[in-house]
Amino acid sequence: MKEMPSPPDAACRCLGPADLDEFGCLCTDAERACRAWARDGLVQPMTEEQRGWAVAEIRSMGDVVQQPESFDGWSDAALADAVLCAWLDYAEEMARRR
Ligand SMILES: [Zn+2]
Repeated sequence: MKEMPSPPDAACRCLGPADLDEFGCLCTDAERACRAWARDGLVQPMTEEQRGWAVAEIRSMGDVVQQPESFDGWSDAALADAVLCAWLDYAEEMARRR
């Protein structure tokens, strides 16, 4: 997993406010940002660099995840959601192969 270029600030969605105070956030900047884009949108759109990063993330997972022929015309939300799904599919596949 590569670092997202200039990840935007986004609220954590992995924990409720009470747990967040106690344990702190466990997710990465990229994960927080992708969840925000995928769920209710971030105010700022993805930059070209960030879209390129998202496509590279999905492509880097190879045949473990679904690979659309092209991501042209995908919304930021769809692209962010695809990254999150790819991470999840990849993690599940690696767990199966262990
Ligand atoms: Zn978090």
